[in-house]
Amino acid sequence: MNETRRTAFAVGAHPDDVELNMAGTLVLLAQAGFEPHMMNVTRSNLDSNELSEAEITRIRRAEAERSAKVIDAIYHPPIVDDLLILYNETLLRKITAIVREIRPSIVLLPSLNDYMEDHTNTARLVVTACFSRAMRHFQSDPPREPTDQDVYLYHAQPHLNRDGMRNFVVPDLLANITPVMATKLEMLGCHESQRQWLDETQGLDDYLESMRRTSAEMAALRGQTGWQFAEGFRQHSHIGFSNRDHDLLAEVLGDQLFNRSAASRPLLSVGCRR
Ligand SMILES: [Zn+2]
Repeated sequence: MNETRRTAFAVGAHPDDVELNMAGTLVLLAQAGFEPHMMNVTRSNLDSNELSEAEITRIRRAEAERSAKVIDAIYHPPIVDDLLILYNETLLRKITAIVREIRPSIVLLPSLNDYMEDHTNTARLVVTACFSRAMRHFQSDPPREPTDQDVYLYHAQPHLNRDGMRNFVVPDLLANITPVMATKLEMLGCHESQRQWLDETQGLDDYLESMRRTSAEMAALRGQTGWQFAEGFRQHSHIGFSNRDHDLLAEVLGDQLFNRSAASRPLLSVGCRR
């Protein structure tokens, strides 16, 4: 494992999850020359009590595709219904196939702690799909050739920066998304059905405003630097994913990425077991 491909994969459970917590960083990676890929795992068939399942599924798919198009990201269609992202063999084989097709070197994925299971199970499935990318005896669905590139995994913040037990989640890494905030807002704004529904129930433009607030909350962790908006991440262990304990996101983003805990957390000295 040593090849570094300039490909980034951002994956969330629902059609706007990437836009809420990872899109700014994906834009920065795209600007740095990475080929951006986006996926939402569920079809979002339960996101309306008025429209039919088929209709809301169609609308949300179109919104997600429009958002991906804003940054010319390659969009990967959903594979399962809402609430059914279970950590199971069927989904693991399907997501492994997608990882093997994309061969990403950077993966942005949900937090392992969040308020709902679709999010956390997506995180777990993507972790194992990346882990199994090189295992020749693990069959993906559809069958895809194993790949052996190094891959670096970054867990995004949970919804509203809190886990399911209301605890504020403090990220290790902060990406300065201030220069690309307009693009992130444009992408999130593509999800008009959600925006309309939440605006009606929670107040005018709350959908976009709450994303602004959570991004500002992350920027505040950086201190007095002029960063207005940031996205927070925690990097997954490198064991099974890359030859060395390295932070590729920091290498690519340079001074636009701040590591809050680098001084207090020494790198693991043991190598990859494979
Ligand atoms: Zn979600």
